[in-house]
Amino acid sequence: MITLILSAISGPVLAEKCETTINSTDKMVFDKSSISVPASCKTFRVNLLHSGKMGKDIMGHNWVLTTQKNASAVAAAGMTAGIENHYLQPQESRVIAATKLIGGGLQSSVNIDVAELSTDTEYQFFCSFPGHISMMIGTLTID
Ligand code: ZN
Repeated sequence: MITLILSAISGPVLAEKCETTINSTDKMVFDKSSISVPASCKTFRVNLLHSGKMGKDIMGHNWVLTTQKNASAVAAAGMTAGIENHYLQPQESRVIAATKLIGGGLQSSVNIDVAELSTDTEYQFFCSFPGHISMMIGTLTID
């Protein structure tokens, strides 16, 4: 079932490198610690899967992109935003892209406008569920 959904999302071969799928689990981890975005992509799509079984109130995950400089401050501010706001402040201008917060068995995608990213900035992705940034964090680069 998941394979069918993914191949439908992937579309033509040309678009395939302009997206990535990252899995998360009940063990509070992402299956990738780095993502490379080809500079030739206009938009880059990130598909977040949660292959665990726990609900989003206990083991919720999202995929949030900020600059490396802003990551911990955005996560700290998001802690108080509540689950209804996906643990991100509603007017959080430091967030470049974010999926919804999801529980086990679900998925959420987000498109990044590659023109908004710069090759000389370091970017970080993480889960903003309280406490998860300690384990669920990685780097994103433009190549
Ligand atoms: Zn999480």
